[in-house]
Amino acid sequence: MAKSEDPDSKGGACMFLVDLPDPAIQITGVPNTIDSSMPGSHAEITIYNLRVPADQMLGDAGEGFKYAQIRLSPARLSHCMRWLGGCMRAQEIATDYANRRMAFGKTLIDHEGVGFMLAENMIDIKQCELMIDWCAGVLDTGSLGTVESSMTKVAVSEALMRIADKCVQVMGGLGVTDKTIVETMFREVRAFRIYDGPTEVHKWSLAKKLRRDWKAGQ
Ligand SMILES: Cc1cc2nc3c(=O)[nH]c(=O)nc-3n(C[C@H](O)[C@H](O)[C@H](O)COP(=O)(O)OP(=O)(O)OC[C@H]3O[C@@H](n4cnc5c(N)ncnc54)[C@H](O)[C@@H]3O)c2cc1C
Repeated sequence: MAKSEDPDSKGGACMFLVDLPDPAIQITGVPNTIDSSMPGSHAEITIYNLRVPADQMLGDAGEGFKYAQIRLSPARLSHCMRWLGGCMRAQEIATDYANRRMAFGKTLIDHEGVGFMLAENMIDIKQCELMIDWCAGVLDTGSLGTVESSMTKVAVSEALMRIADKCVQVMGGLGVTDKTIVETMFREVRAFRIYDGPTEVHKWSLAKKLRRDWKAGQ
């Protein structure tokens, strides 16, 4: 998406497709990241002096930002759903471990410190499900759900981090090895607190909405 320089456009951004390879678009780096679930990783690209034929513009000039917003909420929600599924599996693995492992005369889950961690995960998982369901319901009405998906993305990504961390902790040394997907989930969800907008930026944006609403009510 790019800001349009067409004097006839409405002055907003434009969305377009570009046939690759194009010398104006260069992959300038493929950084290693904490997560590993994205096929092909995440490339850094440089765009310089790109010319786009008019027939490769998607939709109308000046509407690009609006088009981008349409995919924003479903994208946030699908990240929430995918990584919640992964954390639910991690919780199953940690629960199984805690029910089998004997330590200091009883199974781990019977040690209150361990049982409480798994119970807290159970609560976090249910809260994630409910928020995702609520936000999906808002999107089903045809709304952009910008505020709702922002709230859901923050709540779920923060909860998933807590869940994955506790699963690692419950499993002790095994939890930090690659013998189960618990370690993978811990790494995957850490990045989710930054991808699709860091928690703090979403909160900042929500606070701005509170400010706007308060002003409108005066
Ligand atoms: C490999 C990779 C893939 C990514 N994929 C996506 C993607 O697909 N979609 C997507 O949307 N994002 C994605 N991101 C995230 C995005 O590219 C940015 O990293 C993210 O928006 C944060 O911006 P920044 O890195 O410039 O951090 P900075 O702007 O430097 O911010 C650093 C930190 O400062 C704090 N901060 C910043 N602004 C504010 C504020 N207004 N109020 C309070 N605190 C603030 C936050 O804690 C933030 O984490 C990806 C990032 C990486 C590294």
